[in-house]
Amino acid sequence: MLQCTAVTLLPPDAVLRLLATGAGDLADPEPYVLCELGEHDAPHDGPHTEHAAFLRPGRTPDSPAEWFFWTGGGAERLHRTDRAPWCPALLRRLGTDVVRRCAFFDRHTAPHSWDVDDPLGDLIAERLVPDDSPEGGPYP
Ligand SMILES: [Zn+2]
Ligand SMILES: [Zn+2]
Repeated sequence: MLQCTAVTLLPPDAVLRLLATGAGDLADPEPYVLCELGEHDAPHDGPHTEHAAFLRPGRTPDSPAEWFFWTGGGAERLHRTDRAPWCPALLRRLGTDVVRRCAFFDRHTAPHSWDVDDPLGDLIAERLVPDDSPEGGPYP
C-alpha cells in the first residue's frame, strides 16, 4: 500500500516546541509534516480519519512518542499534538531473528508500517548506495 500523500503546515507553537527541545533540524526548520500512514482516504473510513506525523520520540524507546494529528486542510483543518503509545505489532521474518516493530502509534489505521511504501524513503535509500558498490546497479 502506498503512503498517504497528505502534507500540512505545523502550527507555530508546535514548531517552537520542537526547536526548543532540539528535536527539530535547526538548519532547516521547515514546518511541513507528511502523513506517515498508509492511504486511508477510502470512503468507508469516513471523513474523520486523522492524518498523523511523527514529531519526536519519548524519553525512552518504549515511552509514548509525540505525534501531530490532523484532519481536513486550510481553514477547515482540525489538529492536535498528542503523546501516543506505540503500536504493539511485531513482524518476525521467517528464518531470521529479525523482528521489526511497527513504527506507528497504537490503534492506527491499517496497515502496519512495514506494509506502507514510502516512495521518498526509497529514493533517499537508493541515493545512499555508492556507485562502486555491488548493490549500485546491474552493471559492473
Ligand atoms: Zn493521512
Ligand atoms: Zn501497527
